[in-house]
Amino acid sequence: MIDDNMQRTGAIADFLSRPQASFINGRFVATGSQHHVPVFDPASGEQLGDLLEADAAEVDLAARTAREAFDDGRWSGLTVESRQNALMKIHDAIIAGQSELSEIESATTGIPLAQIKGFYIPRSAYNFKFFAEFIGQVGGDLYTQEPGYVTSVFREPVGVAGLLGPWNAPVTLCSMKIAAAIAFGNTCVVKPSEIAAAGMQRFMEIVNSTGLPPGVVNLVNGRGPVTGTALVEHPDINVVSFTGGTTTGRAILSSAAKGLKACTMELGGKSASIICADADLERALDAALLGIYGGNGQQCLAGSRILIERSIADKFIAAFVARVKNIRIGHPSQMSSEMGPLASKAHMERVLSYAEVAKADGAEILTGGKRVESMGKGYYIEPTVVRAPNNAARICQEEIFGPFATFVTFDTFEEAIGIANDSTFGLVAYVWTSNLDKANLAMRKLRTGTVWVNTPVVRDLRSAFGGYRESGIGREGGKGCMSLYTEEKTTMVAIEKMPIRRLGASA
Ligand code: NAD
Repeated sequence: MIDDNMQRTGAIADFLSRPQASFINGRFVATGSQHHVPVFDPASGEQLGDLLEADAAEVDLAARTAREAFDDGRWSGLTVESRQNALMKIHDAIIAGQSELSEIESATTGIPLAQIKGFYIPRSAYNFKFFAEFIGQVGGDLYTQEPGYVTSVFREPVGVAGLLGPWNAPVTLCSMKIAAAIAFGNTCVVKPSEIAAAGMQRFMEIVNSTGLPPGVVNLVNGRGPVTGTALVEHPDINVVSFTGGTTTGRAILSSAAKGLKACTMELGGKSASIICADADLERALDAALLGIYGGNGQQCLAGSRILIERSIADKFIAAFVARVKNIRIGHPSQMSSEMGPLASKAHMERVLSYAEVAKADGAEILTGGKRVESMGKGYYIEPTVVRAPNNAARICQEEIFGPFATFVTFDTFEEAIGIANDSTFGLVAYVWTSNLDKANLAMRKLRTGTVWVNTPVVRDLRSAFGGYRESGIGREGGKGCMSLYTEEKTTMVAIEKMPIRRLGASA
């Protein structure tokens, strides 16, 4: 609940003020020795509470607990049907607790409650339903072509997964990793971002209430270089799944390399939204706005570079700016808010610094670029629109990860594809056209993990999700996760007495 002064009261306020601890072997662990990391309310800038940072010893306890839970077969030894039932119980429990979970997640991320309730938390529940169904359908391989043999290939869980998530959608992204890892019989230790970890505290309570065997899902809290590094390097961790920034991805990959651990990296983006003159421009406008201002602009798959055909550019940009000026900025708990505060002060300052970068780039700031002073100490910034001179500008090349849209114009569709691909990133691309040839060309020529044609973001978990180039390594989604979280084992059985070379038998 929020009072007239926009202060949280009641059960949610109590929950948020509690220290956020590790969850190991079915219970929260508060040894009292942990370093305290302050947690701030992005809407007010006030300290909400503390996060109790797990040091290397606490990470060791979590990893060894997960290892024991894996090795003794309490989870990996269950039938697929039992695991499916357990995942569905988690799905149902998230749905039952979604109201409170949404409020907590919205409070610490700053993302408006309407978006968290409408998409982020339902998707977190669906992650468990999806993987419950997926493991009921997939099979191994059987080959009979090799004369005299039957060759089977089946999959076994890898062991213990180390799962690291970012702050922009903690429960949605961590739950995807947890659901996928445990569906295939692994156990795991998850580390959410220290900036917005409260939703995952509540999530662990929900998971625990379903009767999942203790030790299957464990959680540690703390800063990346302390808790995150200890987790990635721990010898009991067999596989690492990371979602976060590209620079962090590089550090994690090199830590994981020491232990030759399989990794997926879901990293940053600077994705293009190509809008052609022949598109349904009303829909393209709605989608372009959603693509950059949804989630307060803190989305890896944001359409942050809007490439607009020159013949319609002035009119489209004017309509875009008019709508941006109308976006309702407000407290994240108010259902009417369309944009809330950014997740942290440091992040707000970083995003704001790009207004100066834009000017140095020779770009024109059409609206925004400033802090919203009327919102007090909250980390609110105005939704920003700039027009860049060309794609070489820093604002076209660097991920800003905020409500910051950059327009670039193009003359031909081939030129637009060239601009879209002229990036170190390659996560997603959006294309708006009514011309089938252009849509087909985009599908083939865009060097990104996903191409959306005439639609804003939509996910089908059956399909692969991940990035080209510096946007990542590996894929999430049904088959991608199966590949990461399972080892393939081949068994060849001789079904005839095939000849065996008889060494030393000639004398
Ligand atoms: P981040 O890289 O700073 O942190 C992500 C996680 O890694 C956090 O839990 C952090 O504590 C941990 N970490 C940091 N340094 C570490 C280290 N040295 N060793 C181990 N762990 C470490 O990212 P962020 O700022 O939380 O999130 C924003 C970034 O995430 C953006 O770049 C965004 O594009 C990306 N992202 C990508 C996707 C995707 O699916 N591709 C989805 C969401 C966000």
